[in-house]
Amino acid sequence: MFKSLLIANRGEIAVRIIRTARRMGLKTIAVYSDADANAYHVAEADEAYRIGPAPAAESYLRIDAILDACARSSAEAVHPGYGFLSENAGFAEACEKAGLIFVGPPASAIRAMGLKDAAKALMEKADVPIVPGYHGDNQDADFLGEQAEKIGYPVLIKAVAGGGGKGMRRVDDPASFAKELKSAQREAGSAFGDERVLVEKYVARPRHIEIQVFADSHGQAVSLHERDCSLQRRHQKVIEEAPAPGMPPEMRKAMGEAAVAAAKAIGYRGAGTVEFIADASDGLKPDGFWFMEMNTRLQVEHPVTEAITGLDLVEWQLRVAGGEHLPLTQDKIPLKGHAVEVRLYAEDPAKKFFPSTGRLLRLRAPENMPHVRTDMGVREGDEVSMFYDPMIGKIIAHGETRRIALRTLRGFLSRMEVAGPKTNLAFLAAAMAHESFIAGDIDTGFIDRHLDQLVPKGPVEPCVLAVGAAAHLIGRSAVLRAAQAGSDEPHSPWAEADGWVLGGHRAETLRFIVGGENVSLTVAPEGNGWRLSGEMVGANIAVSAIMDGDGTISATVDGVRLKAACVPSGRGFILVHEGISTDFSIVDPLDVDIVSDADTGSLKSPMPGKIVQVLVEPGARIRKGAALVVMEAMKMEQTLTAAVDSVVAAVHVGIGDQVEAGATLVAFEEKPG
Ligand code: ADP
Ligand code: ADP
Ligand code: MG
Repeated sequence: MFKSLLIANRGEIAVRIIRTARRMGLKTIAVYSDADANAYHVAEADEAYRIGPAPAAESYLRIDAILDACARSSAEAVHPGYGFLSENAGFAEACEKAGLIFVGPPASAIRAMGLKDAAKALMEKADVPIVPGYHGDNQDADFLGEQAEKIGYPVLIKAVAGGGGKGMRRVDDPASFAKELKSAQREAGSAFGDERVLVEKYVARPRHIEIQVFADSHGQAVSLHERDCSLQRRHQKVIEEAPAPGMPPEMRKAMGEAAVAAAKAIGYRGAGTVEFIADASDGLKPDGFWFMEMNTRLQVEHPVTEAITGLDLVEWQLRVAGGEHLPLTQDKIPLKGHAVEVRLYAEDPAKKFFPSTGRLLRLRAPENMPHVRTDMGVREGDEVSMFYDPMIGKIIAHGETRRIALRTLRGFLSRMEVAGPKTNLAFLAAAMAHESFIAGDIDTGFIDRHLDQLVPKGPVEPCVLAVGAAAHLIGRSAVLRAAQAGSDEPHSPWAEADGWVLGGHRAETLRFIVGGENVSLTVAPEGNGWRLSGEMVGANIAVSAIMDGDGTISATVDGVRLKAACVPSGRGFILVHEGISTDFSIVDPLDVDIVSDADTGSLKSPMPGKIVQVLVEPGARIRKGAALVVMEAMKMEQTLTAAVDSVVAAVHVGIGDQVEAGATLVAFEEKPG
């Protein structure tokens, strides 16, 4: 066995690999870009080496820079993680040439599965069922149209070099085929430098079911059962589970055997996943699944397999790479209980899941929940940068039954505290509680179909407003007390609030902007707390609260005890309650600014992209929330809005401009005073 391992990746997967490697006594070596100099994975590793600037193309995707870090650190083996170089056959080859052990399959196996058309042809030969369709060389539009007719609509056009759901179009009728073909080819060309596509049958009620396989270098291969990854948005997974709900044992066996045959057909070694599409319109059946593709690496969702088998797949990867035999034979692979994983993303479900960035002002998980595992990529205080995948981490629950696992996970999510960038936390919790999901009535259209129920909208709950008002009053008094005591800058704005319960002297009106709405609340002292009234809370609410120095609030609202967290942000604070975070901006100019570190002097581009529309001119008076600029980034349009009321001083971009992340788009006038 080798003694040192370089992890050519970042974020949660790097942290997760380091954890196992350390347990196995290996020296762990991280690499980092300039954006990651202080990242979690760097802090966790024994050593870390800089490999270049922030953009992945100049750091994590640079084979020469990674090999150089290997040489400098005398690493013996390299783990590529997922994404980045993990499915790059040239990288696997370069590692071997440099005398390094590549923790993954042989380059030839990566190549065999790299293109979807060649992979399908190969699987057909190995008698693995494939989705009916055309995957030949002819790329003529009319010819492909004829093939689509032959297959029968609806069909799916896929980029042969595709990945991450890109270059994929569903076509429902012949009339739109030519147009969709063109757009798929264009997207494939720009994403993969390869315009070629294949056309296949669109499976009616598709469920994504995949098999985890493992092979060693002694000709053994096993399947570690299936995972169901049908809950997807934009053809990308967000919730995964094992085993698949409603899976008949004979189908599990058939799929496992097909996957092992696939692995053997390409001389596979290490961990791999064979992805199948199943038709769920009439329940799962042993003859109702077809090969989609093979991912020749560790998968994001591998922890659900670890949970039901009790195995550590990274340990298996390292042992197999070190030349050992597979630790277990097929009949010894356990399957215990049920596991569900959710991917916590910095993204906005209400805006088509558009990625969000920024500092994680709060990131806390409930403790003492032994059946829940968290694989985080960032810590509280870290930045979710625009350069990489916006995944914050994964949360995995295991239970004796699916229902127990779902309930455990839902309870965990509702007690998590995340504030800063927009996240999908509340969306995930809503999915865990959705009747149809609990019933196992799932397919890849689930999220789109139930979006309205999964993305909580509507007015902010009165109890949240009440707790917000209490938090504000306590925080304000704490800041005032600190100022009176002459203490300069308490390190937490709540530092003086500890254990302090307050009633003021007289009634006053508080004004906030909450979730874009103006909220006006009258508060009058009563007992240990206040009585609130106002349009959004009805006639009367009694609230009392205690906040500790960390912003954790215990409140009583009309006799009901609840917990929340209050995190200073911009010109107000964020209140986190039951997994939902609500922004409170303080309007009253006479109020003490609890904290104001937000840069409101200009609008900066959140990510690299193209300007599609400019909606303001210099001199324009704008309100908080007003649309300023529309940009296209990561293949989506995003409207950038004003963070505060202001006046436009200058507009620095025009339609069609290509802008870098962080570029100033619009400048505002300095606020007097
Ligand atoms: P999984 O099936 O494990 O979710 P995916 O193929 O969806 O795997 O991708 C795994 C990771 O690899 C993603 O989270 C992403 O970071 C990266 N990735 C995969 N394909 C692409 C792509 N085409 N462009 C950018 N990143 C990609
Ligand atoms: P990628 O390389 O982008 O991951 P896949 O071929 O794995 O591409 O497909 C991604 C997703 O698209 C699948 O998980 C599934 O939801 C959907 N999909 C793929 N092929 C089909 C099909 N033939 N019918 C219906 N849905 C499909
Ligand atoms: Mg896939």
